[in-house]
Amino acid sequence: MEGDLIEELDVSLEATLAQLRGEATIDVLKVQQAIIRATHQFMFERGLVQVMPLMLSPITDPLNHGVVDAAISYAGCRWSLTKSMIFHKQLALLNPDLEALYIVSPNVRLEFADRAFTGRHLFEFTQVDFEFRDKEGAFVRSFMEDLLRYLFAAVQRDLPEVLAKYRPQGLCQIGELEIFRTEDLEAQYGPEYEHVKSKEALLPFWLLNHRREFYDKEDPTKPGTYLNYDLIWPEGFGEGLSGAERENEYHQIRKRMEETGANQEAFKHYLEVAKKGLPHSAGAGFGVERMARFICRVKDINDVALFQRRPGMPALF
Ligand code: AMP
Ligand code: MG
Repeated sequence: MEGDLIEELDVSLEATLAQLRGEATIDVLKVQQAIIRATHQFMFERGLVQVMPLMLSPITDPLNHGVVDAAISYAGCRWSLTKSMIFHKQLALLNPDLEALYIVSPNVRLEFADRAFTGRHLFEFTQVDFEFRDKEGAFVRSFMEDLLRYLFAAVQRDLPEVLAKYRPQGLCQIGELEIFRTEDLEAQYGPEYEHVKSKEALLPFWLLNHRREFYDKEDPTKPGTYLNYDLIWPEGFGEGLSGAERENEYHQIRKRMEETGANQEAFKHYLEVAKKGLPHSAGAGFGVERMARFICRVKDINDVALFQRRPGMPALF
């Protein structure tokens, strides 16, 4: 199967250079720049402290789907390329002077080739990741709505000529976004509920309660459901952000690790910290390329990358 897919992709020098010279590619770069620039400003105004990203760590996000493992040995330690900085966000909040933080974080996830042509997967991308001590999901969702309003206004103000090309009617108005639960949408639309709902929606919406990684908090009032939330882009663009309240109690983390089959030996130092006490926190992360993809209505995110990072595919540069 992998062989078939590689043949579908033109990785000749000619095709690579044609992509490098693409007009839409530069428009997308400008939109990403506007997003990042306004994100920094917004985070500064709201008092979130910027933490620098790490690219290699002894522990990283186990993710709730398989990817090719990317790790190296160095200094007697096994280092994984960062899939997300979820654990570092939690650990950083142990510092009493830090109440809220954000990271513009490169993530490497060597996705399998079955994601090569989804239109929204790269095998390295940039996530804006943020976390608040002692806050709950509703606070994070409202924060994200404010951020979105701020970012859309910035793109409209700073790049009117770019926006006129891709969204002549302008960007959608962000108010309080609608909230749905996975179990309700699944009952209504069947197993492809997220895609179907995203396609028919005209505004981004929240989708609550996904069964996934052990660090998303289980609802203590309703075991088997989870205090997590995704922001879904409308018009079929799909997932744009994932977040959650976090598990921070040792026994509950152990229970959830057992349920998800996490490698507890790899997390032994994290578990030691959890035993002493991890802060209660909530946060989220959104993909910058996916937000730009939505704004510019790009069919395939890799077609407008300066340098393609298409899952399971080779590249020249
Ligand atoms: P996650 O916590 O795994 O949901 O990742 C956070 C966000 O990063 C997602 O909601 C997406 O916006 C973005 N993202 C995740 N995986 C990819 C990928 N392979 N390519 C591009 N963006 C991604
Ligand atoms: Mg997600």
